[in-house]
Parts: sequence; structure tokens; C-alpha cells
Amino acid sequence: MLGLMQNQPLLTSMLLDFAARHHGDTPIVSRRVEGDIHRYTYRDLAARSKQLANALDGMGLAAGDRVASLAWNGYRHMELYYGVSGSERVMHTLNPRLHPEQMAWIINHAEDKVLCFDMTFLPLVQAIHAKCPTVKQWVALCDADKLPADSGIPGLVDYEAWIGGQKTDYAWPQFDENTAAGLCYTSGTTGNPKGALYSHRSTVLHAYGGALPDALNVSARDSMMPVVPMFHVNAWGLPYVAALVGCKVVFPGPAMDGKSLYELMEAEQVTMAAGVPTIWQMLLTHVQSNGLKFSSMNRTVIGGSACPPAMIDTFREEFGIDVLHAWGMTETSPLGTVCTLKNKQLSLPPAQQLAIRVKQGRAIFGVDMRIVGDDGQDQPWDGKAYGDLLVRGPWIMDTYFKGASPLVEDAQGRGWFPTGDVATIDADGFMQITDRSKDVIKSGGEWISSIDIENIAMGHPAVAMAACIGMPHPKWDERPIVAVVKKPGAQLTREELLKFYEGKGQAKWQIPDDVVFVEAIPLGATGKMLKTKLREDLKDYKLP
Ligand code: ADP
Repeated sequence: MLGLMQNQPLLTSMLLDFAARHHGDTPIVSRRVEGDIHRYTYRDLAARSKQLANALDGMGLAAGDRVASLAWNGYRHMELYYGVSGSERVMHTLNPRLHPEQMAWIINHAEDKVLCFDMTFLPLVQAIHAKCPTVKQWVALCDADKLPADSGIPGLVDYEAWIGGQKTDYAWPQFDENTAAGLCYTSGTTGNPKGALYSHRSTVLHAYGGALPDALNVSARDSMMPVVPMFHVNAWGLPYVAALVGCKVVFPGPAMDGKSLYELMEAEQVTMAAGVPTIWQMLLTHVQSNGLKFSSMNRTVIGGSACPPAMIDTFREEFGIDVLHAWGMTETSPLGTVCTLKNKQLSLPPAQQLAIRVKQGRAIFGVDMRIVGDDGQDQPWDGKAYGDLLVRGPWIMDTYFKGASPLVEDAQGRGWFPTGDVATIDADGFMQITDRSKDVIKSGGEWISSIDIENIAMGHPAVAMAACIGMPHPKWDERPIVAVVKKPGAQLTREELLKFYEGKGQAKWQIPDDVVFVEAIPLGATGKMLKTKLREDLKDYKLP
């Protein structure tokens, strides 16, 4: 017998309608590429998203057609999110930091029909447009007077002119909630990038899950700053979470240096922000070296790569800001786990609490996880046994766009997504990533966690960034070394850092064999350390 409740499809347009109706005057503030600050409200966002939908109808774009963006975090990008998916097209966010060849490959693979770009990326578009025959319309996300007369891009229009003449009325179509809403490619550190195709249902459920108190704990009282780019897994879903709760949104645009972020956070009284650890390192350096304090921030979501314990500690102890350590992937929408303490852990001494906070956390309702050994057998949840992390749930990917399904079946025939991460899970369900499987260091048949080694180095006051990789060794197969960037002006020797590892819970054989001081650690397209490149850079290195 079926239930007798209304069967309303979960569509992204619901989120926008809700925000415009119930939080119509709540501000959305953006630092623009031009450098100025733009302000408007959810009501304006809804009206302009509808103008955009009318523009897409006007050019005869079919349902399911892909509209791509090459853009920073800002109000026009948010209009694209809602106008494109709401009108049953697919929003495809491109990562501008990819190599132009790879970008053209992705555009062709996705068969993007429209491509909207911030003026920052004009030279990039000029370089690739001829290689992208599927794109029928190029749109510059700028005011009319900023459009260059001789861009060399056929039919280029400015966004304001493109949507400006359109009506602000638009009846969002109702359709199957399993229809595609968004497309995002993995950064493809191994082989060609692969596309995760999100549905309306997965997007709305992910936003519901993400807003929960034990997840990102977002409410209408927040002023939210998504620093994580909107081209990096939809800024972790925050533009959808924001509309679901109707909170103020503050977009930093292209200015992601510590000073710009800090000033905008203070000016707009940001209460929560989200980004990868490298961004927060820059912010902390700025704040600490200028003796500043945060007047409104109370929590920050850190994920994308492991957040060093020293960073969690500094935010809490020096600034009273809670770090929500989160784990996820492009294929998981991305939120999988978030680290928030349970009631029974609140009375633990600070050091024990920190030992929990550094973990990637507990599964959000909707996500289920397992760790399995090489033989495919489940490993115990004891916080020690590690295995390949598998996940499943309504916002976890099933099949790659135009590709294969990577799922592995369990005994009941249910599909699990293999994350490529190696993790432990403790008895309270807190998951901790020990490594990406390709970064794990195997020494004498034992695994060494590169993340543990990096975390200890990051706890040294002279260290700005640390990356641990394995080096070939004749006897042990591999031995870990740590590449270190020193803080400006700081003094540190190899011996001092190696000594620092003693008494930090590592067995002798887990301590790195060497420290290599470098000017910078190569970063990938999403601001994460690029160990493949670091290994290449150090290919002539010999262990002592
Ligand atoms: P890419 O493969 O391009 O880096 P993603 O952005 O999807 O793509 O990265 C997902 C991976 O990032 C995860 O599989 C995991 O290895 C890593 N990751 C994400 N969050 C964390 C975290 N909090 N701690 C450690 N690793 C993380």
C-alpha cells in the first residue's frame, strides 16, 4: 500500500522559490572581478535567475543541454546554478585552473552548448574557443561596458545584455527529480577527468543533509562565506544549503588572499566559512602576523584534504573558532562525513577532544560507509584497523557521465562506491583518513600514513606547509621523507625537525628518513597538495 502524501519532486527551483518567498530581503554580497562589492537579495537572485532561464529558452536550448561556467564565487554564478538547473538544463562548472588542453577536452566531452565566463578567463577562452565546436554561445559575465569590442570570440555577448531584456516571470517546470541538475569533473590527476552528474534529488537531499546541526549547522542566522570555489564540487553544495535555510551569503570573488578574506569577513560579519586547509593557512598567517581577531566568525568548515591538528587548535584556542573537519569527494556531492563531537565526548579533556576533532568525522544521515581489507572483508570499527573506504547513499555517484560504474557489490547486491581512500573507523563511528590509496607509503610490508607525518610537521612553529611522500628504498621498498616549506623568516634544520617527531606517538620506523626544504609545495587545481608533481620534482633525490 502506498502512502497518501503529496508527491512533489525535489527540484533545485524549490530551494530558490523558498528563499525568495521566505527570505526575500536577505542579502547576497559579492566581491566582483572588478574589485567592487555588489549587494542584492534572494528576491533579486530569483528574478535574475528567471531572466536567465528565459534567455536559455529564447535560444532554443533543449532540456538536458549543458551550460558551462568558468567563474569565481559570485552572484552571477549563483544565478547560473539556479537558472540553468531550474529550467531543466545541466549546470556544468569548469575548473579554470586546469590545463587549457584538458579544459577543451572536458568541454567537448560534456558537449557544452553555452559557456559563461568571468573576464579573468578571457585569455583562456580566447585560447580554447576554436577547439570547442559544441559551444553555440559564449557569454562574458560582466557589465555591458566591460565587453571588449575585439575579443576574437564569435558572437560573444555580455551577460547583462543577454538576460537584461528578458522577463522576470518564469514558471519553473516540474519534472522527474532524478533529472540531471549539475555536472562536475574530477580534477583527473590520473588519466582523463571523469564527470559526476548530480540529479535534482541528490542535490536537494545533499543540501538538507549538509544543513543539519551535526553537519554544517547552518541557519537563517548565519552569514556564510563559501571560500571553496563554486567550480569545486559546487562549493561543497553551499549555494544550495544557503537557499534552503535562507542565510546571508558572502562571495569572495577572485580575491582569496588572507587580507581580502579577512576584511570581507569582518565587514559582512561572516559567521561561518568553508575552504581547503591551504586557504586557511594564508588567512591565519595574515591574522596572526597583524595581531588581528575575528569579531563574528564562530566556525569554519575545512576539508578537501586533511586539516592539520595544529590548525584546528589555533582556530579554537587563539580565536575561539570551531573547525568542522569534513570529508568528501566530487563523486559524493561532496559531503560524506563531518566531525562534530557527541554528547559523551564534551566532558573529555581538551587533548582527547582534539584527538577526535582531527578525524574526518561521522557519516551524515544518508551516507553509509564501510572499510574493507584487500580480501574485501569488512574491517572492525576499532579506530585501528584500516581498509579501503566504501560509501553509499542517495547523493553518492552510481556511474560516471558517459562512463562506467565503479561500484562494487556487497553480499546483498547493493552497490558501494570505492573512494580510493584508506581509513579507520572507531567504535563511535568517527572515520579517519590515513591516506589516499595512491599516497600510502609501504615500508617493510607496513603502511605509514603520510597524513600523520604531515600533521606532526605542521605542528612545528617554523613550518608553513609539509608534504610526505615515499621514496624507493632497496630494503624497505619505500621510506617516507617530508618536504617542508618554512614560515617566512623562520629557522629550522633537518635535525631539529626529525627530533621533533620523537614522543609524538610514532614508532621509530614511522618517522621520516629525511627532511627536504622546498620553496613551495606544488598545488593542484583545487588548492590541494599535488604529490604526483612533488614526486616528479624530487625524482633525482636520493635517500641519505
Ligand atoms: P580530486 O581527486 O580532484 O582531488 P576531490 O576534490 O573529489 O577530487 O577529492 C576527493 C579526495 O580528497 C578524497 O578522496 C580524499 O582523498 C581527499 N579529502 C577530502 N577531504 C579530506 C579530508 N578532510 N581529509 C583528508 N583527505 C580528504
